Amino acid sequence: MSEPGSVRKKAEIPGAYVLDTSAIYSATDYPAENILYSTPMVIRELRRVYRTERAELFVQTRLRIVEPGRENVDWIKRKAEQTGDIARLSPTDIEVLSLARELRAILVTEDYSMQNIAEAAGIEFTSLYLPPIKDYIEWDIKCISCGAISEEKDAKECRICGGRLITRRRKSRPIRE
Ligand SMILES: [Zn+2]
Repeated sequence: MSEPGSVRKKAEIPGAYVLDTSAIYSATDYPAENILYSTPMVIRELRRVYRTERAELFVQTRLRIVEPGRENVDWIKRKAEQTGDIARLSPTDIEVLSLARELRAILVTEDYSMQNIAEAAGIEFTSLYLPPIKDYIEWDIKCISCGAISEEKDAKECRICGGRLITRRRKSRPIRE
């Protein structure tokens, strides 16, 4: 956490953090007293897509790899369906969120959909570079032709008219610092 300006104040306490792929790839100098976690899917993704010696060394020396329980994974999926973010999340994203909930750790991610669900799920979060989200948002999947709201969050086209689906903001509220 070497960029104090971009880190939310309450997350600067020493403690447990869960890192997503980007947070490991761009790993900065996390204080030694912090306990850093990630998940098996993140490590697979990191080694497949972003393989660097620096990232590998970080994995070997600093990270604890833990797979979250099925119960937490299911809980996070339900929460992501409620917020409308489910279509924008990969299985890796869901695993990371689930572990953060399970460990009551602080989530480190630049991903706005993940931050949005973290807010809905009561998971504390922070980001390393981009400013974290300021508003919590719930989304609807809406047809641009007939206006129908799709209940299937991962639908590709409107079930009524076959029209194109877009994501529309249903409601939002500011996140309190
Ligand atoms: Zn339609």
